[in-house]
Amino acid sequence: MADAPTTTSQQSADAARTGLSAAALQRGVLDNLLCLRGRYPAIASPHDWYMALAYSVRDRLLARWATSVQTYAGSDVRVACYLSAEFLIGPQLGNNLVNLGIEANAREALRALGVDLDMLLELEEEPGLGNGGLGRLAACYLDSLATLEIPAVGYGIRYEFGIFDQQIRDGWQVETTDKWLQKGHPWEIVRPEVAYYVGFGGSTHDETDARGHLCVRWIPTRQVKGVACDTPMPGYHVNTCNTLRLWKSEAVESFDLQDFNAGDYYEAVNEKVISETLSKVLYPNDEPEIGKRLRLAQQYFFVSCSLQDMLRLLEIRGEPVGHFAQLFNVQLNDTHPSIAVAELMRLLVDDRQVPWDEAWDITRRALAYTNHTLLPEALETWGLPLMRNLLPRLLEIIYEINRRFLDEVRQRYPGDDARIARMSLIDERGDKLVRMAHLATVGSHAINGVAELHSGLLKQTVLRDFAELWPERFHNVTNGVTPRRFMLLCNPALARLLDETIGAGWVTDLARLRKLEAYADDAAFQQHWRSVKQANKAVLAEHIRGVTGIGVDTAALFDVQVKRIHEYKRQHLNALLIVTLYRRLLRDPQLALTPRCFVFGGKAAPGYATAKLIIRLINGIAEVVNNDPVVNGRLKVVFYPDFNVKNAHFIYPAADLSEQISTAGKEASGTGNMKFMMNGALTIGTLDGANVEIREEVGDENFFLFGLSADEVERVKRAGYRPADYVKDDAELSEVLQLIADGHFSRGDREMFRPLIDNLTHADPFLVLADYAAYVARQDDVSAAWQDTRRWTRMSILNTARSGKFSSDRAIGEYCDKIWKIRPMRITLDQ
Ligand SMILES: *Cc1c(COP(=O)(O)O)cnc(C)c1O
Repeated sequence: MADAPTTTSQQSADAARTGLSAAALQRGVLDNLLCLRGRYPAIASPHDWYMALAYSVRDRLLARWATSVQTYAGSDVRVACYLSAEFLIGPQLGNNLVNLGIEANAREALRALGVDLDMLLELEEEPGLGNGGLGRLAACYLDSLATLEIPAVGYGIRYEFGIFDQQIRDGWQVETTDKWLQKGHPWEIVRPEVAYYVGFGGSTHDETDARGHLCVRWIPTRQVKGVACDTPMPGYHVNTCNTLRLWKSEAVESFDLQDFNAGDYYEAVNEKVISETLSKVLYPNDEPEIGKRLRLAQQYFFVSCSLQDMLRLLEIRGEPVGHFAQLFNVQLNDTHPSIAVAELMRLLVDDRQVPWDEAWDITRRALAYTNHTLLPEALETWGLPLMRNLLPRLLEIIYEINRRFLDEVRQRYPGDDARIARMSLIDERGDKLVRMAHLATVGSHAINGVAELHSGLLKQTVLRDFAELWPERFHNVTNGVTPRRFMLLCNPALARLLDETIGAGWVTDLARLRKLEAYADDAAFQQHWRSVKQANKAVLAEHIRGVTGIGVDTAALFDVQVKRIHEYKRQHLNALLIVTLYRRLLRDPQLALTPRCFVFGGKAAPGYATAKLIIRLINGIAEVVNNDPVVNGRLKVVFYPDFNVKNAHFIYPAADLSEQISTAGKEASGTGNMKFMMNGALTIGTLDGANVEIREEVGDENFFLFGLSADEVERVKRAGYRPADYVKDDAELSEVLQLIADGHFSRGDREMFRPLIDNLTHADPFLVLADYAAYVARQDDVSAAWQDTRRWTRMSILNTARSGKFSSDRAIGEYCDKIWKIRPMRITLDQ
């Protein structure tokens, strides 16, 4: 390591904390290394350097952060409050350097200290506080909100253990706990003084208050304290720095003195343990049966803390509660925070004595709901006994909301009892359930889906009756992703090429990428474009070798499917294609086959047996195909373990082909599809989610479309889908399935994949076999297109050029205009 810097002694201590020059950063890193890590450079570990740098970057955010918060508190601007059970924010160091515009200076400062910035970036542990797309969307939106200078707060849960880490052993997924906090989290500021109490259990009683009004008092049996843990969310090249506020649960008292004095020390500690388990662990979605009680408790916990926090801010601003909806827009990211409808009513009616009608008006004007799924098994419901036991007062409020709501429905549709039953907040058909999507819909002034197709289907299916009753409340806001993280940060070579070609403005105005169209056939530009992709593929190849030991040829077509493993996303359809190509090679070793490297990544929910078996199948195929001399390297199959944001950074930019092959009508939007497109991958996909709009933007000639449409899927199912017919009529498919059933990819074990084969041939709920032939045929077109390098490069350039719509800046702009009616507020720093 190098010696301490020999810069001028005039540098103020202040500059070491806030200065953005390389020299000031160097001073800052050395100061923090000593003052926060207690180390001189000579014996500092890489982790010490990482922490010192992270704190130095955070130092430079603090004035922006404090100024933003203070500016909002001192004005009457409306604030967007984004409530989400998940925020998959990814590594923060690189992103904060990019948004502050100091990456080059930090690199230089560290180089002078003999430290490599990339090595430190590599060390960072990402907070895995989300499952996948939904949590990542929330994080992209926070980036755009700050970049667009919109006053905003993200509210969620500070899980001590985020999404599990995935390892692959013997081809199977093995889960290990995610210990993201183990080495400390330098970005966060814990605020023990910002804390709220949340009650659970107990009973309710009618009372008369001091003014003689009848009111309800809820006496919970247990209280938990929620403590604010804040992380700065800086915008790109602006002073705005918003807050991600995550709640950590704590016992109200470390020791229950009564129990302690009675000698029951262990009972007192037990209470503490139970309270702290509330924010212990993130639930993986798609679990067949999750630990429901704790999950509902988590949702109520973070929603109650967040709403209490808004009410406190209202008081700080000296505003009456009647102004709540003028000052806060509360966006519900799926139904996970939908108990907010009842909780805001409780806080207004019970705690602040606001009359019901006025409270309801406030609640509805403040709340809006984003739906993320049409899959019936993913629509949240809670059993009545659980709700009554855990949240008795909230259930009463839900009943009252329902009573008034159904009166309204009855007036509008007299005698239509079937409709009443369908729309009720309570499903009375079997064991009684609270329908959270209905609660969210009834309590919101705006409801939106996340892609045109999805928003349309939403109005025709799960929320049809509501869309008939209140058509003006339904909107579409197609999802987007942030180009800061998913282009500038993760694909710097592409960013440089874009800067040189069309100027740097594209980063905050992604529509400008259209200017690239003029270069699509330019031979020199094409050459440059390919060299960027080639370098990104080499980086991925390096990671693949390091993590899996598999060597891949970077001249091959990189065909990538990374996303959660789920039957509806149909990774097994992709697997059938690989077996098809392999079988063709077995039959004709001389076959002219386009060399491909298939890359898979994604986690399966720990309790989702079929998804885990699909991972095993992919690894079984990899083992055979990668090592068969007949293949001779022309096909490679890689399952890249532990797909997360950090790995995503080098996977998306390396893709030639993006696999978006879900059963039409099942993927609400997808956002991975957008990240691939921005980075120049071509898409093979169904007419599902945002694929529809991607194809519209890029043009049919630059998109590989295949398969049944959503309407056709429904028609095939209604007519009585029989997957076995497709096997009977398709010799290639039949032999492919036979090869798997015979144990060819399971070392002769004919039992291993039997459940999967049986499922496909007898039930096939996601129509894998119905789309197989069309998929394979379209992949033949992909292979042919790849052979024409100039044509492929042109299509690749046009994909990036026409991806502007999918910036989260566009999406957040639409939320601001259509739903929140919020305008930007410029933050100016003193001096
Ligand atoms: C974007 C992203 C997703 C969502 O991918 P889809 O293909 O839209 O399902 C999931 N996980 C991570 C880490 C992501 O970055």
